[in-house]
Amino acid sequence: MYVLVINSGSSSLKYQLLDMSKNELLAKGVCEKIGSGGMFSYQAGNIKIKEKPMEIATHEDAIRIAMETLTDAVAGILKDIRQIGAVGHRIVHGGENFIKPVIVSRGVLEEMKKNTILAPLHNPPAEKGVEACMKLLPEIPHVAVFDTSFYTSIPDYAYVYPIPYKYYEKHKIRRYGFHGTSHNYVTGRAAEFIGRDIKQIKIVSCHLGNGSSITAVKNGRSVDTTMGFTPLEGLMMGTRSGTIDPSIITFLMREENLSPKQMEDILNKKSGFGGVSGKYTDWRDICSASENGEQRAMLVQKIISAQIKKYIGGFAAVMGGVDVLIFTAGIGENSCDMRALATDGLEFLGIKINRELNENMPLGVNVDLSASDAMVKTLVIPTNEELMIANETVNIIKS
Ligand code: AMP
Repeated sequence: MYVLVINSGSSSLKYQLLDMSKNELLAKGVCEKIGSGGMFSYQAGNIKIKEKPMEIATHEDAIRIAMETLTDAVAGILKDIRQIGAVGHRIVHGGENFIKPVIVSRGVLEEMKKNTILAPLHNPPAEKGVEACMKLLPEIPHVAVFDTSFYTSIPDYAYVYPIPYKYYEKHKIRRYGFHGTSHNYVTGRAAEFIGRDIKQIKIVSCHLGNGSSITAVKNGRSVDTTMGFTPLEGLMMGTRSGTIDPSIITFLMREENLSPKQMEDILNKKSGFGGVSGKYTDWRDICSASENGEQRAMLVQKIISAQIKKYIGGFAAVMGGVDVLIFTAGIGENSCDMRALATDGLEFLGIKINRELNENMPLGVNVDLSASDAMVKTLVIPTNEELMIANETVNIIKS
């Protein structure tokens, strides 16, 4: 079956077409600057379209362009759009009511929209993508796959915040967790890779990219994670603060006369690597600046590696041990510096990496980085959220 996977953001729409009989990527594209000009990129085999300016006013336009390109006589790889058997949509927030993927009907879409208040930036564009796609491809199933649903196994003591309980009841303020599709994918692949039953191992999974989170997975079920009510909690990230003392927020709002929106912008867009370094939001730039002796870039490296270690140790304690440590996403998969910094000194936990392999490992494949005398397997597992969404889409249709 051919599955189209759609990841729709506020001003961009990414898509991939996968042949699920072979788990193979056939084509991928991205429409950017939706509503403010428009830019289109696409790749299918050797055919590449790179950042072509194109009028893309709405998400529906973006999907129409995607379909036209997939069936184009030159760039396309489909003879007929009806070759697509299903569409899988990435939805960031499923709230408490969507605990597994679901086939979208009008009624389901209305129900999904009730969660908008929990993810006002992420859910509305995704829902626009679903609506546009359902309009253009009305005859095939559309499946919503939620980033949060991997975390429905987290116990109440890990998801209830110690604020008045009535706010959980009234506003559903609780830990939800994010990057669930990625953590679900890499933990499954990791267990297969080392030939262990996922139901019998304890995994700490580090998804380190522009957005970063760490999740504890015990016997195949998530038991805790660093992101919370929103994807702002936990580790410091490219531009996000991660966890800070909540009093800093009210203090700054008072002292700097900031509105809630301004404060949110500071925490989401002006903090993290960028905030501390004053310049660099990209990890590669942090590493180069640090090599050139820039003190605040070095400070970023120290803060993030200390935070990752705290969570690895904390989650090992939560699970009563750790068998597997995973690194994934842009930084986790590509940065030997980060993997070295984040594991340095964790020998007491049984975590020890092969430093030479860490610096010279192949990219884009699963790698076992553990030193020969390590008790814990440290693995690099490339994430593939689209493949996971396509898999979930096929599974739900079959069931
Ligand atoms: P993601 O959000 O998963 O795409 O990850 C983006 C982050 O990965 C950015 O901070 C990049 O600097 C980082 N990254 C990507 N490629 C590399 C690389 N080759 N070495 C180090 N960091 C990288």
